[in-house]
Amino acid sequence: MINIVLLGPPGAGKGTQSKKLIQQYKLIHISPGESLREQVEKSTSLGQQVEAYINEGKLVPPAIVTDMVEAQLSALKKEGYGFLFDGFPRTVSQAVAIEEQLTKQHLQIDAIVLLEIPEEELFQRVKLRAQIAGRADDQDDYKIATRIRIYREETLLVNRYYAKKDKLFKIDGVGEIDVIFRRITAIMEQLLARAISV
Ligand code: AMP
Repeated sequence: MINIVLLGPPGAGKGTQSKKLIQQYKLIHISPGESLREQVEKSTSLGQQVEAYINEGKLVPPAIVTDMVEAQLSALKKEGYGFLFDGFPRTVSQAVAIEEQLTKQHLQIDAIVLLEIPEEELFQRVKLRAQIAGRADDQDDYKIATRIRIYREETLLVNRYYAKKDKLFKIDGVGEIDVIFRRITAIMEQLLARAISV
């Protein structure tokens, strides 16, 4: 059983690849972005608390996200299933918090898979998604730019944090969905082989 994090800038294809990965590898999907959007749609008190942050393309306050992920971790934990964290942790403080939580449950993050895409392409992809999915945070250039800036300023530090622990795997995120998926599965197979041999 392995636990992985899928990271990348907005529009990198994390959601698409996550869906394929959870099917192929029996992984439990933890996506704060999706969970938070659901709360906003249902207009729960949490949804009302976070709506403005999401709609402006800003990060939701860290305690809200880490509490939510911790609750999901305990509720969803199933024997034999690993976790796929999609778009989380996005800051080093979130990375430290989730590691503490996982350690308590005798778990760890085994790898970070980072989808790399040139910035010029991100804008086009997010705008295309805006027409299909209608996400409020995909709707204007300023919101998209804010998310890309936050990714550069905050989330790249998370990548560095895991690179120092030898857990970072960079993937070229440009190409057909299935081609990118095969790049990721090559890494998954390495990780699984390593887990079996330990
Ligand atoms: P995503 O679907 O992963 O692109 O996330 C959509 C939005 O949800 C982000 O722009 C943030 O407002 C919020 N969000 C998702 N993940 C996190 C996180 N790890 N920390 C803080 N905010 C997050």
